[in-house]
Amino acid sequence: MKEINSSEFEKEVLLGGKVILDFYSTECPPCEALASKFEALSLLYGNDIKFMKIFRQGNRDLADKLGVKSSPTLLFFDGGKEVASRLTGGVKRSEIIRNLNSMLSPEKVHEISSQIKPFVSEFDVIILGAGPGGLTAGLYLCQAKINTVLIDISLPGGHVSTTHEVSNYPGFIDPQPGYLLSHNMSEQTKLCGTIYKVAVDITKVDLEKKEVVIDEYETVKAKRIIIGTGTTPNLTGAPGEKELKGKGISYCATCDAKYFNDKEVVVIGGGNSAVEESEYITRFASKLTMVHQFDKLTANKQAQDKVFNNPKISILFENEPRSFTREGDKIITEIENVKTKSRQKLISDGVFIFIGMKPNIDLFRNSLELDQWGYIKTDQDMQTSIPGVYAVGDVISKKYRQITTAVADGTIAAMAIAKELD
Ligand SMILES: Cc1cc2nc3c(=O)[nH]c(=O)nc-3n(C[C@H](O)[C@H](O)[C@H](O)COP(=O)(O)OP(=O)(O)OC[C@H]3O[C@@H](n4cnc5c(N)ncnc54)[C@H](O)[C@@H]3O)c2cc1C
Repeated sequence: MKEINSSEFEKEVLLGGKVILDFYSTECPPCEALASKFEALSLLYGNDIKFMKIFRQGNRDLADKLGVKSSPTLLFFDGGKEVASRLTGGVKRSEIIRNLNSMLSPEKVHEISSQIKPFVSEFDVIILGAGPGGLTAGLYLCQAKINTVLIDISLPGGHVSTTHEVSNYPGFIDPQPGYLLSHNMSEQTKLCGTIYKVAVDITKVDLEKKEVVIDEYETVKAKRIIIGTGTTPNLTGAPGEKELKGKGISYCATCDAKYFNDKEVVVIGGGNSAVEESEYITRFASKLTMVHQFDKLTANKQAQDKVFNNPKISILFENEPRSFTREGDKIITEIENVKTKSRQKLISDGVFIFIGMKPNIDLFRNSLELDQWGYIKTDQDMQTSIPGVYAVGDVISKKYRQITTAVADGTIAAMAIAKELD
């Protein structure tokens, strides 16, 4: 692996044959998450593909010229030409391998794959999911000197990292940007010494044996497991939604509202998330139409008042989306009045959907006792129906899902485990 600067780009990269180039930055958690994967893969592929790194902040002109806008960004070159798709953000090992393999012959790929040796790593506690619940459990366990690993299929932070502002987390006088709150939570837990394995593929979870297989070759074993995998937004299921996801339909205001400056948007939903996020979206959008299936909003009173007093927001009650289509750069949302059955088409620049969540339990759906909505049942120590397996945060069966309640669950599970393992 070699560190280069922009003056060496032509010689080392364009004339360098097969090259993978990592634009990294300092103070960049996803860059840190990538570093160990990049290094490990350089040992496997390094004889056939050159692994290079370049400091983005120090080589800004080159980054701009190549259109590199975030860190880390991985670029792949072969014979001076960029090949394969660029990878950014929480880059997974499997994505890098896919791109590297596409640059090599099948025989070479087979030769390299056969060198990948499965291995086992052992900890006291595995935490699945690095949202507020998992991060808090990690912090408490680490401070109790319990050898803990946090495993996440994405980057740490959970939902908080994409919430625009959090005003109800105690300890802060002013509202905190969600990304900052989750960043601070994550850094606190990491600096304590908890091991992170993030942006990984989880291929198998055996709760009875307390084993988790990540990236198909590493088996992580522990004495206890904490599940803190949170929830995923529900889909409306209307035709066109899946096709337009990320192409005009979004589930995250913090991520995408900024692209709707002076534009018109439709929001599906009428609960707390829909109402709060609508308020945020109107910082950018010129007009927002909420479509809600009931005859009144289900958000709390304070949030409702804000929406009713916002001149940019209008609400269509007792309507549900029936289809989403794209016409040019507009999204057409066909809605149906649930009482009269009359239909109308709403033309907008984008659609945001906030209609509740479902628990992330696919990997352990069949092994745990769940409530009627599919959330994991726990006792007062957060222990599930399997001894030694705990669950915390939004994924468990409970009435109120907030950052504070996830943090509380994480605390309880960690303290119960610390006592048991003492
Ligand atoms: C738009 C929005 C706004 C909100 N605003 C507020 C607010 O202002 N105040 C407030 O208190 N609460 C708010 N909430 C609720 C709050 O974000 C959640 O209650 C809290 O994040 C729950 O934390 P958690 O740790 O249980 O799960 P999450 O935050 O959902 O984190 C779960 C983590 O698990 C990971 N994961 C998922 N599947 C797997 C798997 N199979 N293996 C390993 N890891 C996995 C995910 O990548 C994620 O990092 C908001 C929620 C949303 C959606």
